[in-house]
This record gives sequence, structure tokens and C-alpha cells, in this order.
Amino acid sequence: MFRIARREEIEFYEAEELAALDFVTHAFCTRLGGVSEGPFASLNTGFLVGDREGDVRRNLERIGRAFAIPPGQMVLMGQVHGDRICVIDGEGTPPELIPQCDGMITARSNVALGIRTADCMPLLFVDPVRRIAGVAHAGWRGTALGIAAKMVKTFEQHFSSRRADLWVAVGPAIGSCCYQVDAPVRDAFADRHDAEAFLQACSEAGRWMLDLGMANRLQLLEAGIPPGNILVCGQCTACRQELFFSHRGERGCTGRLLNFLMLRDGSRPKNA
Ligand SMILES: [Zn+2]
Repeated sequence: MFRIARREEIEFYEAEELAALDFVTHAFCTRLGGVSEGPFASLNTGFLVGDREGDVRRNLERIGRAFAIPPGQMVLMGQVHGDRICVIDGEGTPPELIPQCDGMITARSNVALGIRTADCMPLLFVDPVRRIAGVAHAGWRGTALGIAAKMVKTFEQHFSSRRADLWVAVGPAIGSCCYQVDAPVRDAFADRHDAEAFLQACSEAGRWMLDLGMANRLQLLEAGIPPGNILVCGQCTACRQELFFSHRGERGCTGRLLNFLMLRDGSRPKNA
């Protein structure tokens, strides 16, 4: 179950099941609580959307303070709607930005993994047994490329995670109510046997309504995640523009929401 919460100025959604874990901090931030103005009001975290760089930095600092993210320990991605997943290991200060990357996984504590979205789907992955955190950015391209399933595989191969242990929280994204797509998008899912479950023909010829949440849920189930471990926010970013940035809803001129996940310092798991 998701709920809305507040820390200092920041209003955000969280999954109760992840919030109950004492070794992670996570949030799906709304657009509320920042300093940006105009179409970027107010908690914009995108540097490349036309907002003032200083305002974006102040917004990221506010989020860092509110959630006790150590300075310099937030890693963002240069997201390209691909399926490349980076493992963040090693020591010392992590990179501020990983170019051409749409997924990250780490076992490091106090490193916040951030995803920036405006309609695309943010996915947070937690292995509570081995204490591993991962995030992925899934728009239609990433979803069609199978990035959610690839995340599960990377947890397994790189960290020996058991699929049945993983939790996945699916944050606010554009809903099937508002996500009309054309033939090239439908064709990207042509090899999915279950595409009729998430692509519905609509009254307009050559158009379909895409349910990104359902597409990712089916992908995660097929990848072996137990149904009860998939937590879905269900808020539509285009329907609720007072709370969220929506690329579709605001015709391209808008900010980027920050969604993040961080493992906290603390006792290591007893059984790892
Ligand atoms: Zn909607």
C-alpha cells in the first residue's frame, strides 16, 4: 500500500512495506516543496529541461537534507530509454551522474540511487535478505526492452538474490487513462504474448491505450517476483498535474520528479 507523507518541505509517496524496513530510505517525490518557478514549480530535478541550474541544485539539496542523504552521495542517471544497468560498487564518492544508463543496483550503504521521471515509470527494487537496492526507469521503450526483468536477472547474477525475496515498488507514472500511443509503440510489444492485457485499442483508428503498470507487473511476475511483493502506487501523473510533472499533460514543457532508494548504515543481515 502506498501513502502520501511529508518530511520538511517535501511531500512524497512511499510504499508502506518498504518504509517498514529499517535499513532503507525511499521516496517518490511529488512536485511540491521546491524552489523552481513557472512550468518547473516547484521541485524540479531535471537539469536539461530549461530550468535555472541553481534552482535545480537547491531542490536536490532540499531533498538531501529532508531524507538525510549524505552530501555528494546521490547518483543520478543520464537516462536514454535503454536497458543498460550499472552496478555501483567500489568505495569512495560515487559518480554524480552515470551517462546512458536506465538502471542501477548497489549493496553500498548511504548511496542514494535516483530516477527522474515525468510520466515514465520509476521502479524501486529491494532484496531485504541480502540488503541490495536497485532502481530502474521504464518508459515504453525500456518496458518493451524488458528492463524490469533484466533488473531481476542482474540481482540474481551479480548478488545471488533469490527472486522470491525481491520487493518491487512501482511509483507514480502515466496511467492507461491518459497514455495514448501509436503503431510504432504497439509494434515494440509485438513479441509479447500477453500484449492484449496492457494495450487496448481505442476509438481513434491506429491508436492504443498503453498500461505501463500492467506491462511491468506481468514482466515482473514472469521473472519470478511473487505477486504480493509487487507494490503499485497507481497514481496517474497526467491526471494529477497539481502533484506531478507530466510530459504528456504539459506538452513537453515541465520538470522532472525525483524518485530514490538508499540503503542505510546499520547491522548487516543475520543470515547473509
Ligand atoms: Zn490519467
